[in-house]
Amino acid sequence: MAQNFNLFSLEGKTALVTGANTGLGQGICAAYAAAGANVIGAARRSCQETAEKIAAYGGKFTEIIADLSDINVIPRIVEEADKAYGRVDILVNNAGIIKRCDAVDVTVEDWDSVIDINERMVFFLSQAFAKGWVADNKGGKIINIASMLSYQGGIRVPAYTASKSAVMGLTKALANEWAKHNINVNAIAPGYMATNNTQNLRRDEQRSEEILSRIPAGRWGTPEDIAGAAVFLASDAAAYIHGFTLAVDGGWLAR
Ligand code: NAD
Repeated sequence: MAQNFNLFSLEGKTALVTGANTGLGQGICAAYAAAGANVIGAARRSCQETAEKIAAYGGKFTEIIADLSDINVIPRIVEEADKAYGRVDILVNNAGIIKRCDAVDVTVEDWDSVIDINERMVFFLSQAFAKGWVADNKGGKIINIASMLSYQGGIRVPAYTASKSAVMGLTKALANEWAKHNINVNAIAPGYMATNNTQNLRRDEQRSEEILSRIPAGRWGTPEDIAGAAVFLASDAAAYIHGFTLAVDGGWLAR
């Protein structure tokens, strides 16, 4: 078999990334554009900053404004995304929220708001794209953003831990059903990354110090740190990888 030396290129592919306006989602969008993909960002707010980063690579970017707490937006997202570049080949379920609160005080509203975005949307958006991919028999890639709390319990974030544990479980469950359709479902579990998601944690001097002291790499991660894993899992190089959650954590889980 001829060796393809362009295994990591995303040239000619289209990627849809949720939560594309900030943090890790923005970093993944920029990495995909740099690897040659057309990028669609689904976000609550304008993705102006993301669009500017992508323009710097000469890449193509389209935004879809949508509130991802409500699964009723899914048909519009799929329609607009398919219209933008013909077909979506890569879906990154990145949008997510975290609510910090003692377990005894968590309200039903807070619980549901975390589960709705972090878990329910991940499943139903994946289902919507996979339906099309099974039907046209051209395959696809799904990359879910999991967490260290897919492996560990965390402190004062029970709904987040439940949702991210579900993301790792779903990644395996969907891979089992869809691998035969040439759909790769995998996940990235970021460690402690300097984004909005961890702003409160980094402001808490004691927790921040505790966390930093157990990261073997000796620093918080950045959106650029997950770029390589995101491109790899979206590329032909990952064709035979199914249902795996790849930790990008500066060594956190190795401790
Ligand atoms: P972030 O807060 O910058 O990003 C979250 C994104 O989700 C934002 O773009 C936000 O607009 C979007 N979002 C939230 N609610 C939405 C809604 N209702 N509709 C549409 N979009 C919505 O933080 P981040 O760290 O970049 O988080 C990205 C993902 O990475 C999340 O799933 C998060 O749980 C996960 N994660 C982050 C870390 C970390 O240390 N930062 C670690 C593990 C996992």
